[in-house]
Amino acid sequence: MTAPSASPTDLGVPAVRPSDETAPMALQMAPRRRGKPPKHFADLTPAERAASVEAMGEKPFRAKQLATHYFQHYTSDPEQMTDLPKATREALATTMFPPLIRATRKLEADGGTTVKTLWHLFDDAKVESVLMRYPHRTTLCVSSQAGCGMACPFCATGQLGLTRNLTTAEILEQVRAAFRSLDAGEIPGGPTRLNNLVFMGMGEPLANPRAVIETVRTLVAPQPEGFGMSARNITVSTVGLVPAMLKLADLGIPVTLALSLHAPDDDLRSELVPINTRWSVDEALDAARHYFEVTGRRVSIEYALIKDMNDHGWRADLLGEKLNARGRGWVHVNPIPLNPTPGSIWTASERAVEDEFVARLRGHGIPTTIRDTRGSDIDGACGQLAAEEDDE
Ligand code: SAH
Repeated sequence: MTAPSASPTDLGVPAVRPSDETAPMALQMAPRRRGKPPKHFADLTPAERAASVEAMGEKPFRAKQLATHYFQHYTSDPEQMTDLPKATREALATTMFPPLIRATRKLEADGGTTVKTLWHLFDDAKVESVLMRYPHRTTLCVSSQAGCGMACPFCATGQLGLTRNLTTAEILEQVRAAFRSLDAGEIPGGPTRLNNLVFMGMGEPLANPRAVIETVRTLVAPQPEGFGMSARNITVSTVGLVPAMLKLADLGIPVTLALSLHAPDDDLRSELVPINTRWSVDEALDAARHYFEVTGRRVSIEYALIKDMNDHGWRADLLGEKLNARGRGWVHVNPIPLNPTPGSIWTASERAVEDEFVARLRGHGIPTTIRDTRGSDIDGACGQLAAEEDDE
């Protein structure tokens, strides 16, 4: 894969820059104004769905029929909605299910059980999702923004800058596509259901809180109003936008929270996760602890191990101390071997260093599991595929 160098000016985002440049990218909290994608059935609450159907001169019960097709049969194709009169289903489907995402590339790994899809949105913005099937569960990694404004220098998406927020339906369409593919038996191992979802694709989910929260509501709503997923199997991963973390705690839907920490000290974290200049390590950890107190859900701390950067034994000790200072049993740590991005001088830590880091954390009594790095041979680090595409 070639290093991204061309400026994707057509997207109105900053030029892609290699991650080893010293000048940091600017943080971008809000997207530039762009046209909005058309409203879609999946953007609506059940009451709004019924009202929209009625506004088209149809009986409100048609909304439930449409919801059953969409959230239970995973289709928006009028041809398959044979319980509706032909003219009705054509009209309803055209209005309610405008095409929002279009798969333009699929990459497979692990014998077809890992599938990464590049999606083009209505305005040609690009996002990715990754479906990973394991023996006892199936996980989808979704994007919540096109690009990302958080500018983390080791992350491929961070180098793209923020293009725009995705709408609820643009996120849910990634999910529906995964359910459909699994249901149709397209992934080796026989038909199955999606049971895990992580907001670890492109974007900072808590910088797009409204759409992400509406997405979560629909993911957990029982079929046919939503996909009927379990909140505990949904993970929202954040750089540590403290006010949004506090709001998420009050949502009343106990999703799992992951905090991308990557360093226990402010000096280094401000370099690796620039938003740390606004909310420090201690503030982010306090918000994570608060999340546990309110929801009872154990928080995950994400820690990409970068050779000679953040993988020192003393940093493992400092992390262990900071976590234990906030209590026991509320947190676990997920070290992730760095997936190097094009143009970066950084690489993953040595295996022995990784083992030592894990052993030290466990020595402090912190449950620690190395994150599996599926799909690294298909540009697993999210954003790499879109970065490459922009370069072509
Ligand atoms: N913006 C959110 C979610 C997206 S990234 C967040 O930062 O949490 C999901 C996880 O992948 C984050 O922990 C992120 O720091 C990590 N990540 C990004 N680039 C990576 C890379 N090159 N190697 C390993 N992990 C990476």
